[in-house]
Amino acid sequence: MDVLLKKCLHCARKVFFGTIIIRNYAAKPIMSAPRIITMNRPTLHTLAFSLLTTAALADGAFYGDPPDATHPWAIHDMNRPQPVRVEPGTFSSQEKPGTPPSDAVILFGGKPEEIEKWQADKTPAEPTKWEVKDGVLQCVPGSGYVRTKEEFSDCQLHVEWSAPSKVEGNSQGRGNSGIFLMGQVEVQVLDNYNNPSYPDGMASSIYGINPPMANPLRAPGEWQTYDIVFRRPIFKDGKELDPGYITVFVNGVLTQDHTPLEGGGGHMRRSAPRAFPDQGPLKLQDHGNPVRYRNIWYRPLPKRAIDGGEASHMTEAATAAKRAEIAKNIREAAAKLEGNEKMLHLFESLCYEDNAEARKSALDSVEDFSEKMKEVPPGKIETKKGEILQVAKALRYLTKFKILPEDIDAKKDLEAIIKVEEWEPQPKKK
Ligand code: MG
Repeated sequence: MDVLLKKCLHCARKVFFGTIIIRNYAAKPIMSAPRIITMNRPTLHTLAFSLLTTAALADGAFYGDPPDATHPWAIHDMNRPQPVRVEPGTFSSQEKPGTPPSDAVILFGGKPEEIEKWQADKTPAEPTKWEVKDGVLQCVPGSGYVRTKEEFSDCQLHVEWSAPSKVEGNSQGRGNSGIFLMGQVEVQVLDNYNNPSYPDGMASSIYGINPPMANPLRAPGEWQTYDIVFRRPIFKDGKELDPGYITVFVNGVLTQDHTPLEGGGGHMRRSAPRAFPDQGPLKLQDHGNPVRYRNIWYRPLPKRAIDGGEASHMTEAATAAKRAEIAKNIREAAAKLEGNEKMLHLFESLCYEDNAEARKSALDSVEDFSEKMKEVPPGKIETKKGEILQVAKALRYLTKFKILPEDIDAKKDLEAIIKVEEWEPQPKKK
């Protein structure tokens, strides 16, 4: 909006400090010579304000391609909700963990009491024997997996881990742990710094499914950072609607790029696509190595369109419902307005959903408006330029996209005024 206002003010200033060439509307337009006049200040103030209003409204509606059967919003639609504000956190260093973003759910931030958020992965649940020491959650070998008491699903997950600095074992036996999303899919934790192993079991592999695209690990003892985007598989009536995906960055390097889950993977056996529950705990693996963890947090992700969410390409039923909701909101806003603002809001609502009452009211209003404009004395028509261009723009949009029929008398009348006044550049004759 700041940029828009600056543009408007720039235009307004050009008008205010300059002179404007105006044709006499009463004279024969093609034959009459332009006459140069200097506007007085009130007139220029009015025009400048009109341009500001016009531009602010014009960018909000009748601009990009309109909604369609699977997209409830127009292109560049200002009716679309603004993204939620999130205060970003800070990055970690080896010496100090960073801070999470403002909307993160902290699973382990370094406080001893946060062990209460975790429990041994047993039924019935019991306290874990994993230890919190010096701000670090450490696996106690032989104590078993640990899991969060909280259950969740689709998320952005941040985890930092560190393999023992004293190197012992090799391949899968060296610094092995694992991060199990929903307790089901393992993103491998393994000290693969100068330590080859089977690729689909290396650090940040989706274990048994897909190797990482790169090995950007730091040396054992150093902190490694995993940033994971997890989408669970979605099934309906036994049919797979979405296989689920995982994306992983290791120390800022992409290692899994929207990898399909294929059922979640596992040891030795090839998994097959399967339904997941709606939610599950985050589990960390005890694989017999004292791997350390710090700075574990997640951000729940919005639902996918296939799951009833409002992201990008939606189902036809969800789109129709959303379009009806947007149209209703605009009609309600219109009810509190008067004049052209009301009319333009009603026209805008038709882009989302047709409504006989709104359509009739707006078309009646635009006929009234065009009749009034035809009555404006030629010497004063310039003061109506902003309004006329704004309404004409709306009518052009609505007819172009067949939201209204082409043969609207008001449109023809307003276009005639615009042509006579030469308010728009005419195409060059060949
Ligand atoms: Mg493991």
